[in-house]
Amino acid sequence: MSTPLLEVGGLAVRYGVINAVEDVSLSVAPGSIVSLIGSNGAGKTTSLRAISGLLAPAAGSIRFDGRDLAGVAAETRVAMGLAQVPEGRRVFPRMTVLENLQLGAYLRPGDASVPEDLEAITTLFPILEQRRKQLAGTLSGGEQQMLAIGRALMSRPRLLLMDEPTMGLAPQMVELILERILEIRRLGTTILLVEQNAVEAIRLSDMVTVLRLGRVVHTSPGSEIGDDLLRDLYLGHDV
Ligand code: ATP
Repeated sequence: MSTPLLEVGGLAVRYGVINAVEDVSLSVAPGSIVSLIGSNGAGKTTSLRAISGLLAPAAGSIRFDGRDLAGVAAETRVAMGLAQVPEGRRVFPRMTVLENLQLGAYLRPGDASVPEDLEAITTLFPILEQRRKQLAGTLSGGEQQMLAIGRALMSRPRLLLMDEPTMGLAPQMVELILERILEIRRLGTTILLVEQNAVEAIRLSDMVTVLRLGRVVHTSPGSEIGDDLLRDLYLGHDV
């Protein structure tokens, strides 16, 4: 086994007196897709936000490429190669598609590699090229999701954290986004994916970690998780 790109050990995160995440350990191998699944409130988004540096852990360790991230600011994590596609898309609605994408490269404005990366992203999502002058707030939900992914890719991440990229999208758009996720991995970016859509996430992933009530209840290759096990893991039966 290669050294993990991301290694989380015993992570705990609190919101005041609420223990949102109590004990989460997971590992992401370079070049892999790992999914974090579990029912509402299991602590998936909270875990991702702690990894990207938006929330401070109460306990545990997060190592990226062998480096301990304790005390490392979110912006520095982006510069190190960690980018998050936030839940609910969150594009800048009054800016154009192109401006949103350019903002993703804010750490290297004017760099000669920016146009190259823009081209790579519009190859991945051709609709963004067609809509480049359109205000982001007027895009469809699926197009906004593509833009949010594209913007995160503009920071040239080694690890892309994706929070429910298919949420609220029509089935055809879900298929397209999932297929593009595979393509992003093929192009060399490692992915940690949070998904409500467990069956699809399992199909896509090399490894799956299941959370319940802030704790890891199962980790295995996706191929080892059948329907019965999945039902037990979600419903909270001992397995
Ligand atoms: P979902 O799939 O519904 O987004 P999730 O697995 O991502 O769920 P989190 O959003 O991480 O779960 O929430 C974990 C727990 O923390 C929940 O009990 C939630 O109510 C609580 N929580 C989340 N955000 C806050 C907050 N800002 N303040 C207080 N409690 C919060």
